[in-house]
Amino acid sequence: MSDVLAAGVRSYSFEFFPAKTEKAEQRLWESIRRLEPLHPTFVSVTYGAGGSSRERTVETTRRIALETTLTPVAHLTAVEHSEAELRHIIGQYADAGVRDILALRGDPPGDPMGEWRPHPEGLSHAEELVRLVRSCGDFGVGVAAFPERHPRSPDWESEIRHFHRKCEAGADYAVTQMFFDVEDYLRLRDRLYAQGCRVPVIAGIMPVTHVGQIERMAQLSNAVFPPALAERLHAVEDDPAAVREIGVEYAARMCERLLEEDVPGLHFITLNNSTATLEIYQGLGLAGMRAAAA
Ligand code: FAD
Repeated sequence: MSDVLAAGVRSYSFEFFPAKTEKAEQRLWESIRRLEPLHPTFVSVTYGAGGSSRERTVETTRRIALETTLTPVAHLTAVEHSEAELRHIIGQYADAGVRDILALRGDPPGDPMGEWRPHPEGLSHAEELVRLVRSCGDFGVGVAAFPERHPRSPDWESEIRHFHRKCEAGADYAVTQMFFDVEDYLRLRDRLYAQGCRVPVIAGIMPVTHVGQIERMAQLSNAVFPPALAERLHAVEDDPAAVREIGVEYAARMCERLLEEDVPGLHFITLNNSTATLEIYQGLGLAGMRAAAA
């Protein structure tokens, strides 16, 4: 990943989450297989909040590395892990041939807005995890960025300062939280640039395909959902096809604008469904271009 971005090549990537049931696992793998021919630069697998979902993250990422042509990026968080445990997980990734890790602090289990308490033998901030991953071997390391500011940051000055520290600790690139207003992304990019931070910031795109996602996303990401878009989606909420069409079209227009602004990468949050991402690719004429580049 670091080589790709350093060479100035735009990255296209897809995000999945570890499946909880056998049926969900089947759907996840169908999506992976349907998206594989689009030759993404990487695919990432989110790291669960705790327990067995974490093992499933490791297993899914391992399978992608071993059984597909795709380059996996493993999300990893410091939540409820000692440093020794984190080293062990990083070692498991290395054994499976996974060379890229998205280093995240994570959120307090149960309540993402609750008080953050590090593990007594663990890490307090993503910056430390970046250093830890770097110390464990030759990994590409990504970090999180927030176009609307991290919900816990009191102001932009501290947000940018701490982000800059993650980059100085060794991050090669960043992936943003989902956002719905391109101006938020552009303002973040300008702020980072003004502070001398040149790390490529890949834009996180989440196509809305159900109205239920509007509230859910606001809860999970703190991203402001544009009221005009919410109104358009609610107006057709009894017609699932119309909801999808509006959500996909909105995400495609965002991608178009971001590409015009020379974004270093687009990262699609797929929620383990391939259709919306495929539709956006087709709409933007990316499918043929990616196949030719592969
Ligand atoms: P940090 O960079 O540590 O920042 C957290 C807060 O602390 C910020 O307010 C920051 O300004 C502040 N801060 C940072 N360093 C310092 C310092 N040295 N001193 C004082 N304050 C500091 N969560 C999951 O559980 N699993 C996932 O797979 C996952 N994937 C994600 C993918 C992306 C692309 C994004 C954007 C987020 C993801 N998250 C995931 C959510 C993420 O874990 C949370 O948003 C978390 O609250 C912040 O993580 P971070 O890595 O940005 O933390």
